[in-house]
Amino acid sequence: MFLCDAHCHLPSSEFSEISDALAVCAACAKGSDMPMLAKFKEENPKNVFAAFGVHPKYLDSFNEGELAFFLENADAVGEIGFDKHSSFDLQFQRACFEKQLGMAISKNLPVVIHEVGHWNELEASLKRLRPKRFLIHAAKCSAELVEKFEPMGGWFSFGERELELKSGGAALAAASRSRILLESDSVPSPEKMEKAYLRASEILNLKEVELCRMIGENFSEFFKNG
Ligand SMILES: [Zn+2]
Repeated sequence: MFLCDAHCHLPSSEFSEISDALAVCAACAKGSDMPMLAKFKEENPKNVFAAFGVHPKYLDSFNEGELAFFLENADAVGEIGFDKHSSFDLQFQRACFEKQLGMAISKNLPVVIHEVGHWNELEASLKRLRPKRFLIHAAKCSAELVEKFEPMGGWFSFGERELELKSGGAALAAASRSRILLESDSVPSPEKMEKAYLRASEILNLKEVELCRMIGENFSEFFKNG
């Protein structure tokens, strides 16, 4: 089976190859990840998609010029967003999020969003800037939030961790099938993805082969540029 991981991080070794049975979107957390991610993509041109951006916990490493440089060869902007556990205040988080979101919009790139605890702020920023396509990763939000964000261009990605929770299962069931992706949020790992696929197929009551086809199509659609 061919599995697609919508959100993972860099492998421990810079030049690792990944399994042919896996396509991944690897995301940056901070500025120092960017050159390593560019190399990882270069080494695995067929099955590594790259999201460049700065996570709300590492905003001291945000450098607009550096990000603009790496966005020249990016498949997405991310992971960016809000986090109530970040040491940066909300105003600064918002400024950095909106700056990066604006860069994504001007390059016509999809956005991978990290969101912990500031849903109203996220909603307000998305309404202000209106990106066409964004992915809320590790989505364990309520079904109501899925229904609110989907018409705004929202897609939702779930890992085994979220799908073990009642809220994650409810969010998965509430999302349109064409807006669902699966993820590991770890280093690229077919084993972790197999567990997420299995759990999602149980919740959605879909055969794994059908789920594989659906997630594969959704992955291509989300990460296509434009
Ligand atoms: Zn992540």
